[in-house]
Amino acid sequence: MASKGLVAGRLALVTGAGSGIGRAACQVLSREGATVVAADKNYDAALETIKKHIALASGYSDAGEHSAMEVDVSEPKSVQNLLQAILAEYKVPPKIVVNSAGVTRDNWLLKLSQEDYDSVMNVNLKGTFLIMQTFAKAMTESSIQGSIINISSIVGKYGNIGQTNYSASKAGVVAMTQSAAKELGKFNIRVNAIMPGFIDTPIIKTVPDKVKEQLLKLVPLGRLGDPTEIAEVITFLSSDKSSFINGASIDVTGGY
Ligand code: NAD
Repeated sequence: MASKGLVAGRLALVTGAGSGIGRAACQVLSREGATVVAADKNYDAALETIKKHIALASGYSDAGEHSAMEVDVSEPKSVQNLLQAILAEYKVPPKIVVNSAGVTRDNWLLKLSQEDYDSVMNVNLKGTFLIMQTFAKAMTESSIQGSIINISSIVGKYGNIGQTNYSASKAGVVAMTQSAAKELGKFNIRVNAIMPGFIDTPIIKTVPDKVKEQLLKLVPLGRLGDPTEIAEVITFLSSDKSSFINGASIDVTGGY
């Protein structure tokens, strides 16, 4: 394990680590000295994060102590299996947990199917709940003082056309973060959320160009964010630099 960096020597779990913000979080956390468990429903993508984006970027030819694992955050059994796999590999639960797994199923309210409503809630909200509950329990049992970072979205605050399901799930993540922070503070486990604006990752590929142009007009910095710009805030919240920040939801939007 690296001895230098903001989160040196800490074990970090990142869900949704096979793409976008989760992948960038793995890169920045490892740059700052953490050992990273990259977990994703898409195992091959998580493995690519470890092998290509962490190992090669840092000049190593192998994954070192980092590992890729498969998880479906919406399935309790799968989340339990992830915890067991981490304990088998590292003997301790992670000190840093980043909930970045997320999906969209956009449609007009008047057309949105119950299936698309449920699948977004199951991954974004229930998935965050299952990971938080499972890993916070493991942290308290091992007396680990940790940091949990939940990726919400700015549309959880303002809403967005075509995203009644998604925006509600992300508002739920903020409220869940605040409640969990109140409960877990006595164990010295901090829980915070980030509300990203529009970030250049595969998840926004489905947004029509016309809509994107309109949205960008509302961003004072006039551009999409880069996933690394969210990952830097994730790493700050994971570190002791943010030791009195708890229950917060931080906008990272370019001013949107
Ligand atoms: P992305 O699509 O690039 O990555 C999401 C990852 O989550 C994928 O690798 C996917 O395989 C994984 N995933 C999906 N369902 C899963 C499940 N059930 N279990 C485990 N993994 C699963 O998207 P992104 O932009 O990196 O988004 C990351 C998070 O940030 C999401 O929660 C998203 O809602 C949020 N967010 C993104 C933006 C943006 O503009 N990109 C803005 C605000 C919030």
